[in-house]
Amino acid sequence: MPSRTYSFDEAADKLAQYISEHSRIVFFGGAGTSTESGIPDFRSQDGVFAKQQVYPHAPEIMVSRPFYDRDPEMFYTFYRDKLIHPEAKPNVGHQVLAQLEQQGKLQAVITQNIDGLHQAAGSKEVIELHGSVHRNDCLSCKKRYPLATVLESVSVIPYCPACGGVLKPDVVLYGETLNEQVIADAVRNVEHTDLLIIAGTSLSVQPAASFAQMGSQAATVIINRTSTPFDNAADAVFNHSSGLLLEAAFKRL
Ligand SMILES: [Zn+2]
Repeated sequence: MPSRTYSFDEAADKLAQYISEHSRIVFFGGAGTSTESGIPDFRSQDGVFAKQQVYPHAPEIMVSRPFYDRDPEMFYTFYRDKLIHPEAKPNVGHQVLAQLEQQGKLQAVITQNIDGLHQAAGSKEVIELHGSVHRNDCLSCKKRYPLATVLESVSVIPYCPACGGVLKPDVVLYGETLNEQVIADAVRNVEHTDLLIIAGTSLSVQPAASFAQMGSQAATVIINRTSTPFDNAADAVFNHSSGLLLEAAFKRL
């Protein structure tokens, strides 16, 4: 179905209608859902990849598992600088999703982000495809630590307070595979949803693209500032900021 262009108000009306007519909503979000919290999009023009000057390698290398294994000190220098944003707060989009879950309308959030902002906003069912900076595992004794342990470490490389082993964030690095259980949870939710809202992602990377296809038996709405390869397959496409649009739609419910 060729999509038409909606003004912000039209989009808010339409999105509110979709939300009110469905009760097993799944929200699939990418980097664009956190940019309104001040976290740069990893792949956008003014994101981390574009601002890359001071580091010796491209970010895809610096946040890869081989690089973590080879040079954990440089990995953590980059990771602390670019990937953790302890000051970031949930934005209105995160808050609306948490409220929709509380009202029993939203069944799960699937996110590509690692910032934990959905949980910070109060969402319970959050499927983190790429892991989270809030979980950090000792590679030696397997003990798990919060972000605070990394932030409060006096050395650049955070070590396990219990055994002295090196900590690794529970974040899927380049060269690592996604957690199978997490994927299974995401698939189950997408298969059982009646409204799939895809937001803040260009749907250019897997598994995001597969989820968009999988959800095709449900109503599918895309909220993204730019076009995606799945726009023609969606029931509606809104080229607006996802947080502001969710807020405007929520107010209309
Ligand atoms: Zn340990």
